[in-house]
Amino acid sequence: MTEFDFIRKYLQNRQQDHQVVLGIGDDAAIVRPQAGYDLCFSSDMLLKNRHFFEDVEPEDLAWKVLAVNISDMAAMGAKPKWALLSAGLPELDKDWLSRFCNSLFDLAQRFGVTLIGGDTTRGDLVFNVTIAGELPQGQALRRDAAKAGDDIWVSGKIGLAASALNYLLKRCDLPFEVFRRCEAELLRPMPRVALGRAILNVAHAAQDVSDGLAQDIGHILTASNVGAEIWADEVPTLPSLKTALPREQWLQYTLAGGDDYELVFTAPQHCREALLEAAQKSNTPITRIGRITDACRLKVVNSVSDGMEIALTSLGFDHFG
Ligand code: ADP
Ligand code: MG
Repeated sequence: MTEFDFIRKYLQNRQQDHQVVLGIGDDAAIVRPQAGYDLCFSSDMLLKNRHFFEDVEPEDLAWKVLAVNISDMAAMGAKPKWALLSAGLPELDKDWLSRFCNSLFDLAQRFGVTLIGGDTTRGDLVFNVTIAGELPQGQALRRDAAKAGDDIWVSGKIGLAASALNYLLKRCDLPFEVFRRCEAELLRPMPRVALGRAILNVAHAAQDVSDGLAQDIGHILTASNVGAEIWADEVPTLPSLKTALPREQWLQYTLAGGDDYELVFTAPQHCREALLEAAQKSNTPITRIGRITDACRLKVVNSVSDGMEIALTSLGFDHFG
């Protein structure tokens, strides 16, 4: 199979999108955004042995490559629309590619994303997706919009993916069923697009939790020039995971683990009802885990009543840290 067979047979003409004027097959793609919308762009790269293990199933890999990008759209409150996929592949293996592409298009279809282009080269296994989404003009959920007094909320459960990863790296022990449950989150995160869109106009700042909850909240604090208090025991978890891990480990994986692809966001206190409604409407559980302060630092304590400050060994993942 040649590069061009691959593009024609596996990528081209698999989707319909009336806003795509010109899709895969020309030098560049053309899309037509809706009037009154801003376009919003993001890009995320996944490398073998850094973001995934060599023996990963192609279905899981494709899922993650696209899901982490869709998650960035969710974090802006955008509707994900168009993606470009650049791939470094050691060989064109038909079976592997067909499994990879089926899973990729399956996820794309679920979220209404159209693949409009990309690049394919021979090389070590690496993927980069660039994604574009649409946002009602001027309404994006930005990191710089948090205000002192805001509540801090998070979606879903945090720390499961990191626990699974640490189990695989033999850094912790877990009952096998607990590991399996956590591994599902590590392999196939479900981007919170519906929630992101439902909290537009309600939430102030938002971002997705990819590199560790504490570190990612830190980005909001820096951008907004505010501080925060987080109540560790309010952070939503898997009860059987919390029981299985020593507290130090549970705290570290939950507050600084990463790979969650949940949304963390801030909103005024008077919006609690509206947020719970948005959560219900989007079928996404949300939990209040702290508040924005004017202290200009992040303080993690055990709980609202036990204000004992928790020192974390690291706040999250840094490729060069
Ligand atoms: P060019 O040489 O003009 O850059 P290519 O031969 O690399 O074009 O690609 C041909 C067409 O196939 C382009 O429309 C490109 O966007 C698309 N394409 C190539 N690789 C991929 C990929 N991995 N995923 C999606 N589209 C791709
Ligand atoms: Mg090219």
